[in-house]
Amino acid sequence: MGDMNQLQALFGGTFDPVHYGHLLPVEALANLVGLGRVTIMPNNVPPHRPQPEASAAQRKTMLELAIADKPLFALDDRELKRDTPSWSAQTLQEWREEQGPTRPLAFIIGQDSLLTFPTWHRYDTILSQCHLIVCRRPGYAMVMDSEVDQQWLLQHQTHRIDDLHTLPAGKIYLAETPWFNISATQIRARLARDENCDELVPTRVLDYIREQGLYR
Ligand code: ATP
Repeated sequence: MGDMNQLQALFGGTFDPVHYGHLLPVEALANLVGLGRVTIMPNNVPPHRPQPEASAAQRKTMLELAIADKPLFALDDRELKRDTPSWSAQTLQEWREEQGPTRPLAFIIGQDSLLTFPTWHRYDTILSQCHLIVCRRPGYAMVMDSEVDQQWLLQHQTHRIDDLHTLPAGKIYLAETPWFNISATQIRARLARDENCDELVPTRVLDYIREQGLYR
């Protein structure tokens, strides 16, 4: 596992709150493609977008509680520590600089994020820094919205897990992970109505949410 050239994976998101729709697909993915470690990186939300309900510190604590008994996951809170929002393209470029030019790197996203990916700031630079590994998510199209974006996907897509381990970057792999119909939006709405979320969020995270009076 200490192999210098082992595939490293980063999983970004708002995690407001973290839920099983984040954790379970990525755990399955780790087994499917062979990931020794996944680094979760909660993001700072740009001011023009709706702000998370939980503070940066609360989102971080919820993640710590969620991964406490899961050695697969590590937490990187660098984006939360900045007072400016960071674009994924910029963060992934920094990560590449830290890891050196040859180590295989992957950015994990859900199917919904793949569909919006071509609208991300400097998205075209991201594949030169890392691979994209996509987890399935119910309710989202399996093809891109436009022909141009679908061509872009097909150009970069690989069906070979090996490519992720032998090439440093540049491939998109659509993984056959299990489907979980869970979203943070749905959880916040359920908690506001005082509905049960035991199947959706780890118990320790739910206890913390209650303790902090979040999402009411
Ligand atoms: P919200 O409902 O507030 O938009 P979310 O549940 O989509 O939040 P995020 O923190 O925005 O959660 O997601 C982080 C990453 O996890 C994204 O890449 C997203 O695509 C992925 N993801 C979230 N939920 C699922 C799910 N149920 N299945 C697969 N991937 C998911």
